Amino acid sequence: MGDPCESSPAADDDQASGNEVKERCWDQREALPGEPRCVICGRYGEYICDETDDDICSLECKKTLLFQLEKSRPSPVQPPMVKLPATDECHYVQDGNNKPRPQCLTNYQTELLRKKLEIFVRGDLIPEPILSFGSCDLPQKLMLNLEAAGYEMPTPVQMQAIPTAMIGQSILVSAETGSGKTGSFLVPTLSHCIKTKNNPQKPLAMILTPTRELCIQVEEQAKLLGKGLPFKTALVVGGDPMAAQVYRIKQGVSMIVGTPGRLIDLLTKHDIELHSISILVLDEVDCMVEKGFYEQVMQIFRALSQPQVLMYSATLSKQVEKVASSLVRDITYISVGKPNRPNEAVKQIMIWVESKKKKQKLFDILTSKQHFKPPVVVFVGSRLGANLLSEAITIATGIKALSIHGEKPMKERRDILRSFLVGEVNVVVATGVLGRGVDLLSVRQVIVFDIPNSIKEYVHQIGRASRMGESGTAIVFVNDENKKLFPELVEILKSSGAAIPRELSNSRYVLSSFSTGKIQKKRKHVF
Ligand code: ADP
Ligand code: MG
Repeated sequence: MGDPCESSPAADDDQASGNEVKERCWDQREALPGEPRCVICGRYGEYICDETDDDICSLECKKTLLFQLEKSRPSPVQPPMVKLPATDECHYVQDGNNKPRPQCLTNYQTELLRKKLEIFVRGDLIPEPILSFGSCDLPQKLMLNLEAAGYEMPTPVQMQAIPTAMIGQSILVSAETGSGKTGSFLVPTLSHCIKTKNNPQKPLAMILTPTRELCIQVEEQAKLLGKGLPFKTALVVGGDPMAAQVYRIKQGVSMIVGTPGRLIDLLTKHDIELHSISILVLDEVDCMVEKGFYEQVMQIFRALSQPQVLMYSATLSKQVEKVASSLVRDITYISVGKPNRPNEAVKQIMIWVESKKKKQKLFDILTSKQHFKPPVVVFVGSRLGANLLSEAITIATGIKALSIHGEKPMKERRDILRSFLVGEVNVVVATGVLGRGVDLLSVRQVIVFDIPNSIKEYVHQIGRASRMGESGTAIVFVNDENKKLFPELVEILKSSGAAIPRELSNSRYVLSSFSTGKIQKKRKHVF
């Protein structure tokens, strides 16, 4: 077989420019796949910060890094607030509840930080980004839980989305897969639930996601961050007995996490009080407003009393923006990095394989010591295909492989995912149910056996190979059956610096779209 893992040519274009250390962040070039990245701005991490050993692109970003570290260092005498600088730079602003709170970045610093972290914002009321979790007045126990969960510093999306949600704004947020979006809605939501007087507990927040697997993970994460606090959750997903879910809600919970279908089922059959809910989260919002989900989501939304709405995805469009603004009037738009782009830490290796040869190619990869990097998720297009392929893998290679898809009972899906995550099973063949949002912590390799029907699902699927910027690999099989997506695939590969198979770049489906200008249109910024 060919060599799917051969590395892309490394660029050393800046080496000719001399040995001077770059002063400014924007003097530095973008990082290529596999190269170190600046921990502040994500550009090429050409240098190492002496004090912290972090990769850094320039003197400017080093300064920001040291500034952030200084700010996030806990102080025993200070309340959990960003320490005010001793200059007249610090002034007070009104928050959503007309409570004054200290603003510790000047407008210039705020702009600079946003520029470096590629945070784009639009809206009327936008607080400055936080530099530490300590700066937004979170309950002390929640702070401790964050620390215990390994959340030392907010990620860029958390820096901007948490303070914005905490002043009561509805938000539409786009940030790449694995960038910490879950934490950025759980922290303000939990903080609201904990601070609100709620005894006996009534539901104060509802989180909707498109898949049961994602709901399970979000609920687990919420429980972890709410440990030891008067905060209970209910999981409302299909496949689990409804009676137990209703019982749990009636016993008193602060947060409901569920899929729209089961929630509607439950609400139509049982008398559940939802008026107390003041925060609604729509995770993977672009999926939630698509045909099939839209009506259900709207039905749930209408049953609530005009809650604050927090909406998130790695892939957004004008259409999603339109739906979002029809739900709530004053929305703040936040986007981190380039929207609708695959996670830059995932190296895409696209191989041209005719359909008849795909299975053999997959077996070759899975039996190659050099190329097989378990645990691996193989994405396919159909439930039957998932079953057949997982069996074929085990027979042909001897590797234990199982399948996950929407037709399997919930208990089986849970057990398979658990044995995959603890390393008992090395290969899982999945349909789109694992494509969205699911945090497959140890997975660094994804094989896209069947390219999905839309480029955004592709972006989400390959995103499973990296969390929090750790590098991963996506091996993707492509052939003429995917011709509808060729122009967008070529664009994505180009922008990621990945090699494009000759058959793909020479395809008439790509060439004709270039001449019609289709590609340029799609590259526009969403907001
Ligand atoms: P996304 O929803 O953007 O795809 P997740 O919210 O699933 O990404 O986060 C990816 C991983 O990063 C998770 O394992 C999560 O626990 C971890 N994580 C999130 N925020 C932080 C943080 N501030 N510090 C450390 N780890 C974090
Ligand atoms: Mg997510």
